[in-house]
Amino acid sequence: MISDVLIVGGGMTGSLLACALGCSKLFSKISVIDALPPPAPTNNPIPDPRVVTLTPASQFFMSSIGTWDLIPETRRASFSGMQIWDYYGTGEMRFENSSGWVIENKELVQASLQRLKTLGIEVLSPAKVKTISRNPGEIAVELEDGRKLETSLIVGADGKESKVRNELGIGNWRKPYPHNGMVCTVKVEGKLNHAYQRFLQTGPIALLPLWENYYSVVWSAPVDIIDTLVKASDNDFITQINLALTSPSFTSFPNQGEIIPPRVTEICTKKFAFPYTLMHASSFVEPRVALVGDAAHTIHPMAGQGYNLGVYDVANLANVLCQGAKVGRDPGDLAYLQVYGNKSKRYNSLFAAVEESILLSYSDIKALHYARNLAYSAIGKVPPVKDVLQRAANGFDFIPQEFEWNKA
Ligand SMILES: Cc1cc2nc3c(=O)[nH]c(=O)nc-3n(C[C@H](O)[C@H](O)[C@H](O)COP(=O)(O)OP(=O)(O)OC[C@H]3O[C@@H](n4cnc5c(N)ncnc54)[C@H](O)[C@@H]3O)c2cc1C
Repeated sequence: MISDVLIVGGGMTGSLLACALGCSKLFSKISVIDALPPPAPTNNPIPDPRVVTLTPASQFFMSSIGTWDLIPETRRASFSGMQIWDYYGTGEMRFENSSGWVIENKELVQASLQRLKTLGIEVLSPAKVKTISRNPGEIAVELEDGRKLETSLIVGADGKESKVRNELGIGNWRKPYPHNGMVCTVKVEGKLNHAYQRFLQTGPIALLPLWENYYSVVWSAPVDIIDTLVKASDNDFITQINLALTSPSFTSFPNQGEIIPPRVTEICTKKFAFPYTLMHASSFVEPRVALVGDAAHTIHPMAGQGYNLGVYDVANLANVLCQGAKVGRDPGDLAYLQVYGNKSKRYNSLFAAVEESILLSYSDIKALHYARNLAYSAIGKVPPVKDVLQRAANGFDFIPQEFEWNKA
C-alpha cells in the first residue's frame, strides 16, 4: 500500500492529524496504524480518571476539523477560573478569566475516530511497526503481521517510547522528574467551576472540575508517597487529600487572601499511577519524517499543557503539509517540515524551561520559598505579566492564525 502520509499512532494526537489532513482533501492517501484495537465506546456516568485540560486554542483547532462537536456535550466540562497557591506562604495567583475544558482521553479518541470514518480514512489496528527503512524517495514500513507499507512521509505519533523515533535512530534527551503522578475521580461538596492547584512541599496537587459534583485529581509527589496514596483506603485518602488542599500555610507571608477549595467527600474510581519524564527528541523532523506529541516531547503535567503542545504540533504540521501540497510539493520535503520542526521546538523548549524554573524554586533553599510566594502574588497583581501568562495558557500564539483546510 502506498500513502502520501503514514501516521504511526492513532491515539490522541495522531488521529487529529489524520482528521486535519483528511479535511483538506489535498492528499490522495492517508494511512493510520495503531498498536491497540480502537477503544470500545462506553457511557459510564462516572468520569474516567484519565483526563486532559484543553486550552481555548486546542478547542478552536478541534472545532476546525469537526471533532469537537462529536464529543458529547454532557461530557465536555468547562472551567471559568483557576486558582494557584503554595504550601509555604500565602502567595497566590487567581486567573478569573482563565477558561478551558477538562475532557476524558477516551472521549477525545472516540470523537477523532468517528470523524475519520466520515472522512473515509481507515485506521489499521491492531497493527504494530516491525521495521522502518528510509530511502531517498520513500519510507518502507513492515508491520509485525508481515504487511508492507510505503509512504512519502512517516509521522511518529506513537507516544513517549516512539518506535518511529527509535527505529530511525533519532536520539532523545531525557531527565526523570522527582515525581510520579496519581490520578482518580472524586466527588466534592461546594463545587465552583474553578480549577485548583496547590504546590505542596512534596509536589503539586490539582483538582480539575468535571460535570455535576465530580472533580479529577492529579497528584504529583515522590514515588514512595504516590505508592502510599495509591494503596490508601478511601477514608484515609479523603483525609489526606482534604489536608493537602486545606492545611494552613507555614507562614502568612506575603499576607494575601485565602483560597478555599471544595471539600472531597468520595473517591469514585480506581487510582492510577504514572511516571513523569522530561523528554525532547534531538530533532522533530528529518527528511521524510516528522514527530508529534509525546513522541517528540514530554513535560511535567503541572501546567496541564503536555497534550495541548501535541495539538499545537498537529495544527502546525498539518498547515505546512497543506501549504506544500497546494503547490505540488512532496510531503516528505524537509524544507517544509522544518517550518513545523523549528516552531514546535521553540514553544516546547519555552514550556519546558518555565516548568523547570518552577521546580527549581521548590528546592530546599528558604530564600526561594519567600521569593516564590512573592512572585505568585506579584504576578497575580501586575496586569501585563498576568496577561502574558494568560495568553500563553490560552495557546493562540502557538497555532497558525489561519488553517489551510478551512480555505476554499
Ligand atoms: C498524569 C498525567 C496527567 C496529564 N494531564 C494533562 C493535562 O491536563 N493536559 C494536557 O495537555 N496533557 C496532560 N497530560 C499529557 C497527555 O496525557 C499526553 O501528552 C498525551 O496523552 C499524548 O498523546 P499522544 O497521542 O502523543 O501519545 P499517546 O497517548 O501515548 O498515544 C500513542 C498512540 O500510539 C500507539 N502506538 C504506540 N506504539 C505503537 C507502535 N509501535 N505501532 C503503532 N502504534 C503504536 C498507542 O497505541 C497509542 O494509541 C498528562 C499526562 C499524565 C501522565
